Amino acid sequence: GHELGGRYEIIARIGGGGMALVYKAHDVLLNRNVAVKVLRQQYVHDEEFIRRFRREAQSAAALSHPNVVSIYDVGQEDDTHYIVMEYVEGNNLNEIIKERAPLQAEEAVRIAIQICDALEHAHHNQIIHRDIKPHNILIGKNGRVKVTDFGIARAVTSSTITQTGSMVGSVHYFSPEHAKGSATGEKSDLYSLGIVLYQMLTGKLPFLGESPISVALKHLQENFEEPRELNPYIPQSVENVILKAMRKNPNERYHSATEMLADLETCLQPGRLREPKIEFD
Ligand code: ATP
Ligand code: MG
Ligand code: MG
Repeated sequence: GHELGGRYEIIARIGGGGMALVYKAHDVLLNRNVAVKVLRQQYVHDEEFIRRFRREAQSAAALSHPNVVSIYDVGQEDDTHYIVMEYVEGNNLNEIIKERAPLQAEEAVRIAIQICDALEHAHHNQIIHRDIKPHNILIGKNGRVKVTDFGIARAVTSSTITQTGSMVGSVHYFSPEHAKGSATGEKSDLYSLGIVLYQMLTGKLPFLGESPISVALKHLQENFEEPRELNPYIPQSVENVILKAMRKNPNERYHSATEMLADLETCLQPGRLREPKIEFD
């Protein structure tokens, strides 16, 4: 059959969102499976989307970390723009949450640590992910976490509003400053990670609404139900991390992924995971 770029044999569709479709494929040259992300047909004549798609590949390719999906190749064949990357056999975190949240505190913290490790590496390389959400976190069969989809990643301090004026990303995970369309930085990714941790441990999103605007306003103005009110098995130390990551004022949040990582690691110290809100006899 046809091989994309003379090299990649498409096996099956495995995913895709607004901008792209993702396929499992076989790289016949290196004899290994890969994931191929293809820009959707409706965008192939839109220069801004092509630029954004290329920037995604460049942002991810600038990183080399065990918790970031590796980029192998990019190319174009006629109208098909594609990015070739490491194939992660397993599930995305959204599927895991749907299937079995609330997760045990230890498992959730171990996942959050690996996401935070990936963010620390990205931030050290001046890349803000800006779309941290469970769909973009892949969990391999071995339990290894891989962050993907740097589709709207940017260098530090740029705005959320695109040239066409539309908002990009998933509003349920937006930081307040992202929701306002202000400049986003490292702390914006840490807020999103706080929401992911909240969702893994409670099975719920902190802010829900009828429309993207109503959700955005809640990030800016409303308090959320505290995690231990929803799930009394959450240790105090873990709730503290969520509350600090999800501060509305970025100055009150963790200052860096490194700082958040240290607190997450402290949560795994002996005894810390056994501080539930309710007492047992
Ligand atoms: P979004 O709407 O989030 O922007 P997208 O079009 O940018 O989506 P991705 O988020 O990159 O696409 O991938 C969509 C889905 O495809 C993922 O949630 C995951 O299930 C699957 N997927 C993506 N990359 C890989 C990979 N490298 N290995 C295995 N599965 C993958
Ligand atoms: Mg995605
Ligand atoms: Mg994307």
